[in-house]
Amino acid sequence: MKTPQWAQDLIIEACIYLGLPDTPAVTWHKSKQHKHSSGRAWQKRIHVTAGSSRQDQKLVVLHEMAHVATPKEHHSTRFWEVAIGLYLHFKVSHKYIIEREKTYRANFLEVAEQMGLRGSKKAIACKRKQQKRRKKFFASLEKNKKLIVLTPLK
Ligand SMILES: [Zn+2]
Repeated sequence: MKTPQWAQDLIIEACIYLGLPDTPAVTWHKSKQHKHSSGRAWQKRIHVTAGSSRQDQKLVVLHEMAHVATPKEHHSTRFWEVAIGLYLHFKVSHKYIIEREKTYRANFLEVAEQMGLRGSKKAIACKRKQQKRRKKFFASLEKNKKLIVLTPLK
């Protein structure tokens, strides 16, 4: 499928904003079943599998553009600074940014808080609570010698 015009325009605007010398090649596929989109980025190419939500397509395009702008960074602090900068510049709502990206285990929420995203403090508190619960859960497993079947997530 041809990349929609709005996405092509967004990518050009993102390149200008990021100071990139050139636009990446874009391949665009439509997902038949999903609301959420997914993407992949290489240094000069991005691929988007577009779900049904336009808001999510936009966020994923910007997420992949942040990867193009920060090659080899993966989801580092620097990557999140660039990604969140893009989201804010192109007016993705704070609420949606947090909702969509908080599942990353990396330092997204810490960067989001530093950059003043509304809802980040609450999401951090929630995440800490979950971590505490998880720790407690695994401590009790260990106590009962049931750790053989489950490995804790970091
Ligand atoms: Zn990513």
